[in-house]
Amino acid sequence: MKPPETRELLPLGLFGGTFDPVHFAHLRLAEAACCELGLSSVRWIPAGNPVLRESPRVDARHRLEMVRLAIADNPCFELDTAEVDAERPSYTVPTLERLRQDDACGAKRPLVLLVGADAFSSLTAWYRWERIFELAHVAVARRPGFPIEAETLPERLSQIWRDRFAADPAALSLAPSGAVVSFPMTPLGISATRVRRLISRGVSTRYLLPDAVIAYVEERRFYREPGGA
Ligand code: ATP
Repeated sequence: MKPPETRELLPLGLFGGTFDPVHFAHLRLAEAACCELGLSSVRWIPAGNPVLRESPRVDARHRLEMVRLAIADNPCFELDTAEVDAERPSYTVPTLERLRQDDACGAKRPLVLLVGADAFSSLTAWYRWERIFELAHVAVARRPGFPIEAETLPERLSQIWRDRFAADPAALSLAPSGAVVSFPMTPLGISATRVRRLISRGVSTRYLLPDAVIAYVEERRFYREPGGA
């Protein structure tokens, strides 16, 4: 690990999600981002009350605890509880504005919003989405079944992809925000939806998510009822 004074200048990864529940593809995405993009660390930001999807199956406090368990042994991962603490709808732009305050990350530190390819393709549905590029860089992880091609993106996003795409992740260190990069991760066809379905059928989810998270879910009998996506 780099000494603290250097690490504080390196790009910081921000990884938001519903994490209902957190699984190994989330962990692998964050780990790959750290290595491939030269991030100091990845800050996980579980959504308290996500607005663009149906209500999570499990309460925000429990989803937060599952992330806490999942990332506990990785010194490059940290947890941001603010969206859960806020107990109101979670939006990315206000979260980034909060992180840009002087008492948080300040204006100069490169911030890198990490998203899977599916999330990137639907970015235009996010609240004040174009503002994201003024506040952070965006790094897109390739995801099985969700190819990223300029031609298939919504028009405005496709234009942004063309204008802002940087092939070299070194671009992330040159400015606090504004670039779009993509990075490879070992393709994993895991989704929280699939995990929930397996649990509702009474099928093992071992090796799809950390054992500590499985134990947490089993103790509370989460996701036993079929339903939701
Ligand atoms: P659900 O199935 O409930 O929609 P999910 O597994 O997609 O959930 P989210 O919490 O919605 O998980 O996703 C958080 C982020 O992780 C998103 O940016 C999403 O694109 C990314 N992500 C989730 N699973 C994968 C995967 N298998 N490969 C790459 N990215 C992923």
